[in-house]
Amino acid sequence: MTEEAFDVMVVGSCMTDLVSQAPRLPKAGETIHGHKFFIGFGGKGANQCIQAARLGAKTAMVCKVGKDFFGDNYIQNFKDNGVHTGFVGQTFSSATGAASIIVNNAGENAIVIVAGANMLLDSEELQKVLPAISHTKVMVCQLEISPQTSLQALRMAQENRVKTIFNPAPAIPDLDPDFYRVSDVFCCNESEAELLTGSSVANVEEAHQAGQELLKRGCGSVIITLGPQGCVVLKAQESTPRHVPTAAVTAVDTTGAGDSFIGALAFYMAHYPTMPLEEMARRSNQVAGISVQAAGTQTSYPYKKDLPPELF
Ligand code: ADP
Repeated sequence: MTEEAFDVMVVGSCMTDLVSQAPRLPKAGETIHGHKFFIGFGGKGANQCIQAARLGAKTAMVCKVGKDFFGDNYIQNFKDNGVHTGFVGQTFSSATGAASIIVNNAGENAIVIVAGANMLLDSEELQKVLPAISHTKVMVCQLEISPQTSLQALRMAQENRVKTIFNPAPAIPDLDPDFYRVSDVFCCNESEAELLTGSSVANVEEAHQAGQELLKRGCGSVIITLGPQGCVVLKAQESTPRHVPTAAVTAVDTTGAGDSFIGALAFYMAHYPTMPLEEMARRSNQVAGISVQAAGTQTSYPYKKDLPPELF
């Protein structure tokens, strides 16, 4: 049987967001009434995969959900977005990952994340995916599943000459140094860069310094995203870090902006392999900049048809 070829394969997490809006956050033992409830699709891996798919990448998601209502619903969400679901496993042993979120009138929140089935994705599933990895252009991993599974997926990609993007999020202080060596592009935000380097990353100059420190650890390139300031790009073969600014926009909700950026980057790496990384970052800034102008996470991610043709 000929394996299907993919532009982008994401090995990562799926989470169902259960969001309640209430006047204030409840105290321990207290029951209060909220005024709005909604269910959203989240999880860093799934978000990045869906943004890449909406730009036109042929995508596959490798993840694990529960054999439950939320798991079935998530698989349908992937299908609705044109993501290949042949590598989405369902288990009776754990529930689909969920984030219970309470938001008060001041916009502050309290969140409980139960990773659930995400933590059961392991090398057994990766072995099943191996034949498809060699027909993939770009592999993307994060840290919302077992770090060992992410590392193994990145190693398998590298061994098959598949380009890799690693997003060390949520950041862990004692990151296995091999993650740097298997990352063609190591892409993180300011707070992740701070945690990994132990230095402040509050402006472009500090981001350049942190980027240089991360680059020394062995990755091909480093991108540090800086919210409304765009990002910085550093390449192993060049001594000068570059700031890639982005257009000022009126931000409504920046949740998931980093995932939109990474999904877009994966799309550009797969479709335009010879494009300079700064240009890919400039375009990814634009895609993520659109996502912050609407509410929600995946609900705010733009489709190719909504974007200016010069981005393609
Ligand atoms: P994260 O969501 O991981 O915290 P950032 O806040 O750095 O990541 O945002 C990722 C990218 O989203 C930025 O590099 C930028 O392209 C875009 N972005 C985020 N916030 C804004 C904003 N207020 N205005 C314009 N673009 C933004």
